[in-house]
Amino acid sequence: MSSSAILVVGGGFSGITAALEAAEVGHEVFIVEKNPFLGGRVMQLNKYFPKLCPPSCGLEIQFQRIKNNKNVKFFTMAEVTKVTGKPGDYDVTISIRPRYVEPGSLDLSDAAEALSKDVPSEFELGMGSRKALYMDVPFAFPNRYVLDKDNCSKEDLASLAGTDIINMGDAPKEVTVKVGSIIYATGWKPYDVTRLTNLGAGSIKNCVSNMQLERLASPSGPTNGCIVRPSDGRTPRSIAFVQCAGSRDENHLNYCSYICCMASLKQAAYVREQYPNARITIYYIDLRTPGRYENFAKKILADDKIATVKGKVAAVAEDSATGDVLLTVEDAVTGIKSENRFEMAVLATGMQPSLAGQKLPVDVALDEMGFLVGGEEKGIFAAGCAKTPLDVMKSAQSATGAAMKAIQTVRGR
Ligand code: SF4
Repeated sequence: MSSSAILVVGGGFSGITAALEAAEVGHEVFIVEKNPFLGGRVMQLNKYFPKLCPPSCGLEIQFQRIKNNKNVKFFTMAEVTKVTGKPGDYDVTISIRPRYVEPGSLDLSDAAEALSKDVPSEFELGMGSRKALYMDVPFAFPNRYVLDKDNCSKEDLASLAGTDIINMGDAPKEVTVKVGSIIYATGWKPYDVTRLTNLGAGSIKNCVSNMQLERLASPSGPTNGCIVRPSDGRTPRSIAFVQCAGSRDENHLNYCSYICCMASLKQAAYVREQYPNARITIYYIDLRTPGRYENFAKKILADDKIATVKGKVAAVAEDSATGDVLLTVEDAVTGIKSENRFEMAVLATGMQPSLAGQKLPVDVALDEMGFLVGGEEKGIFAAGCAKTPLDVMKSAQSATGAAMKAIQTVRGR
């Protein structure tokens, strides 16, 4: 029997947008999100384009719309494990990991603080820690803690087992839903810096990735918004940005990641707002201003403390005595090779599709980089960065398009 329901895989900005577009014209929608909370990568940003507002300004409204719409059902800590059927009539199996915390919006911070272990926070990208009982994202949706049982000591488990907020008997579950169309809005992940061996492979403390800088600049981040050197907490007086770190490189990502030039300019502005005397140098191959970002770039580059050098950063090393970062750069205009010292460096790492290296439970192809290609004839559509690197605004537009196609599929047009 055919179904007019739509499955959205991924609960980030694109997935939520696609889900709401379909739900608000009357379709039942199921969102499947692998993390404990919705919001995706945008949640980790300090500010996002085009208005440079904090994540709360877009996402809180969307969370409210989900809460108010009975057509939207979502599963967190969940993955699609099996899909059978045909366009208009798919049976989807969703596997859900146990959360161990009873429903409700209780503040469990005291219980969490009492636990023994500090665990590196995935959300803080290695720059902060969380407890085993945690809700480590700002304005979390759902507003419900999760227990990471594997990181509890025996004593922790014993103390939590006696409370009525924890359900130690919670177990993995499977649910099956019937849908007519599927949208993949699985987003992206930062390219793995450990693969960038010439750029320090993630081992140089004061050389962070662009996403780590977003967490440093965010008021909800590990330094409460102060951009400081991870090694010693000092204010950096000079910062280098290394563009195309992993992108446009046949050995890594063979495409342009679309927004990282503009993201570095945005981050240069973060630094200059905090430290009016800081000196910034951006090393680039091309400084790309997609769409309507030309004026934004001009405005940031008018700052005489922000310099740009067209040149490839061949190597990044550490001065272990000072923690400074040493960049070997070949200037593309003069041809001169030089070594340059900075107190901190930021790698503008690219966007890798989250699906890279995965096997999908549907018969739809991924290209050699992991972007979803094809599937339309099967009623399966890609939205946002599952399809191509995009900024948030373009991702939302792509999600709206995917929702329209999914609606056409289930309405038989
Ligand atoms: Fe390189 Fe800029 Fe493209 Fe990013 S947006 S891959 S930094 S050219």
